Amino acid sequence: MPVVWNDRCRLHDPGGEIFVGVRTAGTELAARTDAILAALSQADAHVVDAEQHADSALLAVHDAALLEFLESAWDDWTDAKLDRERGQDRVVPYAFAHAGLTSGRPAAVPAAVWAKTGYFAYDTMTLIGPGTWDAARAAVDVALTAVDLVAAGAPHAYACCRPPGHHVCRGCYGGSCYLNNSPIAGASLANKSAGPVAVLDIDAHHGNGTQEIFYERGDVLVGSVHVDPGAGWFPHFLGFADETGTGAGANTNKNLPLAPGTGDELWLEAVDALAAWAREGGATSLVVALGVDAAAGDPESPLNVSASGFRRAGRLLGALGLPTVLVQEGGYDLETLGQLVREVLLGIEEGL
Ligand SMILES: [Zn+2]
Repeated sequence: MPVVWNDRCRLHDPGGEIFVGVRTAGTELAARTDAILAALSQADAHVVDAEQHADSALLAVHDAALLEFLESAWDDWTDAKLDRERGQDRVVPYAFAHAGLTSGRPAAVPAAVWAKTGYFAYDTMTLIGPGTWDAARAAVDVALTAVDLVAAGAPHAYACCRPPGHHVCRGCYGGSCYLNNSPIAGASLANKSAGPVAVLDIDAHHGNGTQEIFYERGDVLVGSVHVDPGAGWFPHFLGFADETGTGAGANTNKNLPLAPGTGDELWLEAVDALAAWAREGGATSLVVALGVDAAAGDPESPLNVSASGFRRAGRLLGALGLPTVLVQEGGYDLETLGQLVREVLLGIEEGL
């Protein structure tokens, strides 16, 4: 299957993350995609350079104000000398536009550069540096090029996106994500498809951004299997089973939260249930939000899925027989990450 890539995805260097108020090294590194590409290249992957796409595809799922903020955030930060005079070498929020502040009314966009970040960011982990916008924008081109390949007749295409995207909502970002590649691909496919698109997220964490972007849409089915936020896991506020969509999107959202320690069998049952749900919903194309951080040994989740579990998950999704775009999300164990992605891609091809 074609592997779409853009070298600019390496330009993002968050320089760590601020977790519980402390700067830690962070795990969302350019070495992640290097590891994936190395593993796929060993298997003679057909690597395709991403092509540039217009901003209209971003505006289909994101507010223009978020895009404008992200594009200028680093320059605004350094123009305000916050790196030199305050010693903060990355864009980070300090005060947040909590919904309760304004009793649900829209909050004002702050005038101060150092306050503006807290209007758009919902956590302190997701730092912006000099190459962040370029890399995030390149990752969108990677996802959209994979859509083009599938629209042109390829049965599957893999988008090696970095930074990941599934935690980004229409107007706010977080979770080490800046632009939401999977729903950008999903919305683009929806424009080209006669029936609904399924976006199935097997990353270890709930795809809260993707859920919210499509929560009121009836033409996109969003399913996610993930570690239970009720057991204390990110994204904490969302990802529960009773979030099923609303309005035109009623019953088009499906969350399958799993207990920490869940291994292959229950995880695969959930993946199978998501695939069956997409089939019953009449999906005519598929986006897989492909995180592999449910793996045993991954530092970011407790789900204990094996390499053969990922292969079997690929087969279950491939058995849907749908035109499929796979979009890279999480996965942080640099030793095994590439092989795990390869297992899913092989499984998809075997399942067809
Ligand atoms: Zn994750």
